[in-house]
Amino acid sequence: MTASVDTQISEYYDKLLKRNAGEPEFHQAVSEVLDSLKIVLGKDPHYADYGLIERLCEPERQLIFRVPWTDDNGDIQVNRGFRVQFNSALGPYKGGLRFHPSVNLGIIKFLGFEQIFKNSLTGLPIGGGKGGSDFDPKGKSDREIMRFCQSFMTELYRHIGEYRDVPAGDIGVGGREIGYLFGQYRRLSNQHESGVLTGKGLTWGGSLVRTEATGYGLVYLTSEMMKAHNESFEGAKVIVSGSGNVAIYAAEKVQQLGGTVVAMSDSSGYVSTPNGVDLELLKDIKEVRRARISAYAAEAGNGAEYHKGGNIWEVKADVALPCATQNELDGESAKLLAANGTRYVAEGANMPSTPEAVHFFLQNDIHYAPGKAANAGGVATSALEMQQNASRDSWSFEYTDQRLHEIMSNIFKDIDKTAKDYDREGDYVAGANIAGFKKVADAMLAQGVI
Ligand code: GLU
Repeated sequence: MTASVDTQISEYYDKLLKRNAGEPEFHQAVSEVLDSLKIVLGKDPHYADYGLIERLCEPERQLIFRVPWTDDNGDIQVNRGFRVQFNSALGPYKGGLRFHPSVNLGIIKFLGFEQIFKNSLTGLPIGGGKGGSDFDPKGKSDREIMRFCQSFMTELYRHIGEYRDVPAGDIGVGGREIGYLFGQYRRLSNQHESGVLTGKGLTWGGSLVRTEATGYGLVYLTSEMMKAHNESFEGAKVIVSGSGNVAIYAAEKVQQLGGTVVAMSDSSGYVSTPNGVDLELLKDIKEVRRARISAYAAEAGNGAEYHKGGNIWEVKADVALPCATQNELDGESAKLLAANGTRYVAEGANMPSTPEAVHFFLQNDIHYAPGKAANAGGVATSALEMQQNASRDSWSFEYTDQRLHEIMSNIFKDIDKTAKDYDREGDYVAGANIAGFKKVADAMLAQGVI
């Protein structure tokens, strides 16, 4: 790394901090990528030409809109809707919608920025975007969820489309919400344009494996990482934080591969499950009853114990899969994991490890796969759903799962090789950022200053 590259990046980052004040998660995501780009620019300085880095960090378009809706008491509620269309050099904007009270512009920008590199790593033709609302689905009735989704889509519909921007789910947005959003889009546009959203129901354009894809894909990639060190999930103890869609299907695949899921969590605490997780019961609690993880401990038996407010990273395990939310695993928790002998960390959530935790993993020989590589299976399968929609086809579970598996194996090969090519063997953060960046950067340079 030359001093001038270092200075150039620092000056650029200082400017970004000023122009995007009060958006700490966005700063965190950009800072990590810029650190990796120092390595690239030292070798290939042309990647700084034509204002490329500045353009990459500035969304192509940011939409913020009012979402008024009527609750079950007849009172008017007002939420804020967002869609950040970050980069469409590789394909239409693609990325989920998050409904959670913590959502603000900075959160959506961090997620949209990560999505650019993640989508690039899949090797499929999709750009990066993200959206959502500060709406809190917790405790809302089905009808309230429906009215909210209809109001949200009433504004969003004019900005999306098969060739423009294709939203999907994220935290707080699953099959039910995609259904209500799609219904309103269809009504407003007077078209059954199945390619406009992914994560749809199977009878109206959805893809098999989409529900399982992020969790399964995470475990496929982690298996590749373990294989590179002559290890496997067989007999491994695994922490899976969270208990939403990603966590449930990560846990399912871990147990299919012979591992034991020793703990899962939600925002109130964690359940230790020394003898593994009963996935049928967990799915019933989370997906059907929409209840809390404490209900699992109360019903499961088999040694399951609820730890209210506890830190899940204190559980002894070989592998940790953070699948809940951003910054859920800090530097202290990283040390706890290491002290308990954890050797692998792979992220099902987006940016769940703090910079201190990531630094600790890299310095202490803990094999660490960042979210933009490890959780790319969800969006990759969304792109497979788009392929099926474009050809009016629907593929079997086995075929789709095989495609997902190949994509995740290729991502691991790509980030592993890129890290080696840049003298960072085993540093999958640099590998993922650089490999993801180069495809987008090459496309942006080829397409001119826009
Ligand atoms: N929200 C998921 C992600 O973070 C999936 C996005 C999609 O399928 O478009 O990648």
